[in-house]
Amino acid sequence: MLQSRLSRRPDMGDRVRVSFEFFPPKNDEMETRLWETVKRLEPFAPRFVSVTYGAGGSTRERTQRTVTRIKAETSLTPAAHMTCVDASRGEVDAVIADFARSGIRNFVALRGDPREGVGASYRPHDDGYANGAELVAALRRAGDFDISVSAYPEKHPESPDFATDIDMLKRKVDAGATRAITQFFFDNDTYERYVERVRRAGILVPIVPGVLPIHNFAQVANFASRCGAHVPAWLARRFEGLAGDPQTHMLVAAAVAAEQVHDLVERGVGDFHFYTMNRADLPVAICHMIGLRPAEQRQALSAA
Ligand code: FAD
Repeated sequence: MLQSRLSRRPDMGDRVRVSFEFFPPKNDEMETRLWETVKRLEPFAPRFVSVTYGAGGSTRERTQRTVTRIKAETSLTPAAHMTCVDASRGEVDAVIADFARSGIRNFVALRGDPREGVGASYRPHDDGYANGAELVAALRRAGDFDISVSAYPEKHPESPDFATDIDMLKRKVDAGATRAITQFFFDNDTYERYVERVRRAGILVPIVPGVLPIHNFAQVANFASRCGAHVPAWLARRFEGLAGDPQTHMLVAAAVAAEQVHDLVERGVGDFHFYTMNRADLPVAICHMIGLRPAEQRQALSAA
């Protein structure tokens, strides 16, 4: 049984499309690492690569610089994340216009977290867009953009219940979003149940799973608890005792993420968004394990 499931897996690369998420680098060293990562991931021909936007627009210039450089120097399609935090409608509209002038057509539209960080209570700017749906509408008014939004398989921590949460997703899609990318999760049944709920609500856009390769389990567990993502006991057990053994930690992380993606492909999922943390090793290993090959290797294989 196991063998027959494994033997189907080499074909998966044909059915899978990926996108990668980066954050804008803070200093020269981080900039070098980001560009090494971008160059290593480019041959996997992602659908797009996205660049996050810091709380309160704190990374606005760095986000803009990073997306425009990706556009100018690579074959990739960059997507700019945008948030509504601490900005008036006029300021947000000006940022959208700036991106559009630089030729950016893809956006990830978010309400964003307060400047104080995840968990602090959110208060919209007096004259600002109140949530993701209002930002999507502003983007839609500004141009014929490809607009992704967030989705929360375990519901957003501020949502009182799933109905409220899914209602916000519906408002974002009705305002013009073309796809939703999920918060990371580790239990694929949770994702599947969520997609069923979303479809029952009449939302038909792709719900692309966000996959977080676990570079550092302790950090991920801490972050997950703040953004409402459950870390199952079996996952904690896999990383138990590995804090001081980075090599084994990396191998286990690659296996865990590849296993999650394999299982989702077997459930019919074809699109994946990887939170890369600006590191290529795990995304490259996972792409390889699910059958994706860099463009030149694909060409050489098909010519052979
Ligand atoms: P929304 O979709 O507007 O709302 C999220 C949920 O909160 C809704 O489901 C809704 O039920 C509830 N809610 C909102 N308003 C109300 C209200 N008035 N009353 C009751 N419930 C309400 N953050 C950044 O700062 N920068 C980034 O680049 C970034 N990128 C992200 C990318 C992805 C794929 C994801 C999943 C998240 C990202 N985030 C980012 C995090 C995100 O900003 C936070 O999760 C934030 O708390 C919510 O933003 P949102 O766009 O999901 O909000």
